Amino acid sequence: MAEHAPVPFLRPQLPPLTEVQRYFTLAEQARFYSNGGPCERLLRERLSDYLDGATCIPVNNATSGIIVAVLGAVHQAGTRGRGLVVTPAYTFVATAGSIEALGYRPLFVDVDPDGWQMDPDALERALAEHGHDVAAVLATHTFGTPPPAGLQDRWAGACAARGVPLVVDTAAAFGAVDEAGSRTGTATGTHVFSFHATKPFGVGEAGMISTRDPELARLLDGIRQFGFAEGRVASLPGINAKMDELHAATALTVLDTYADVLAARRSTAEFYRQHLEPAGFRFQTGSAGGTWQAGYLQAPDPAARDALLVAGREAQVGITAYYERPLHHHPAYAHALLESALPVSEALSASALALPMANDLTEVERARVVEVVLATVGAAA
Ligand SMILES: *Cc1c(COP(=O)(O)O)cnc(C)c1O
Repeated sequence: MAEHAPVPFLRPQLPPLTEVQRYFTLAEQARFYSNGGPCERLLRERLSDYLDGATCIPVNNATSGIIVAVLGAVHQAGTRGRGLVVTPAYTFVATAGSIEALGYRPLFVDVDPDGWQMDPDALERALAEHGHDVAAVLATHTFGTPPPAGLQDRWAGACAARGVPLVVDTAAAFGAVDEAGSRTGTATGTHVFSFHATKPFGVGEAGMISTRDPELARLLDGIRQFGFAEGRVASLPGINAKMDELHAATALTVLDTYADVLAARRSTAEFYRQHLEPAGFRFQTGSAGGTWQAGYLQAPDPAARDALLVAGREAQVGITAYYERPLHHHPAYAHALLESALPVSEALSASALALPMANDLTEVERARVVEVVLATVGAAA
């Protein structure tokens, strides 16, 4: 029975401290450990190069980054005093948590069945009905997969037509490329990335906001440091969402070899796709260019999903349900407004699976995952 070693769901990997030290030395020499020290300044340059010249503002995690980005966006658009923020129901709880922390009530809209991304028709209906009370729209790039450019243009068009700002929670999508080859965060718009240890770009507790709007970038820079725009006078509603030098040094180190990380994850995802698509598993449209925080897919039906969760536990293979329930089924968000009954989010949640993923998942391990999945679904059929 002990012939198979367990395969964990995720196996995060940060660079060794000896490598981080090469960058952190800059901070030590300057005796400058936060508030925009030499590592953070260098990181801003390197991230901006990576995102084709967008302004990149390091933050301490994506959740506070979303708070900063939404505060800046509603300040700029003059919509701060309104009551609602539109967001998809099929996302991670932090998306709605940021909205709640700002005192807004979420207005959940559905996602589309193939891309699992915020449905632009649902967004338009939500804005037509509630637009006068919508402070902002908080879209996502579900599971770090970029929606097609045409879909993102529809989000932007619907928001612009109503004068409502758009912020995009692209937490897991750092390094993602859409079908036209453009990296998430390079286009216009405000994008918030997570550099959490479990994300593909794993740094610890860290993140980044990107924008091509210089006025908004100045606002966001101020909001993330107590609302200081000039000197030590708070002219904006601010929090402390700064990134310290040790995390900036770690992020610089991760960026140096990030292409290898993405290649390894996409190779494992492609292996899952080749073996599991023929068995009736469905993959997210556009996910070939995603970042693959985990091996996200849809089981053929809810019974197969539930059987796989049991089989994974028994075989010690980290098979997980993601997202296990849409946000309106979390008690904290039961009071939210719903644009519809959200049937796609409901259906996706009932069949959603996430398979093991790691930078260094071995061929033996990924073959073991596929073996356990096919043994279970074959038996259930
Ligand atoms: C991971 C994640 C977050 C939270 O990021 P943190 O950096 O941990 O705050 C927010 N939204 C989505 C969609 C995520 O996947």
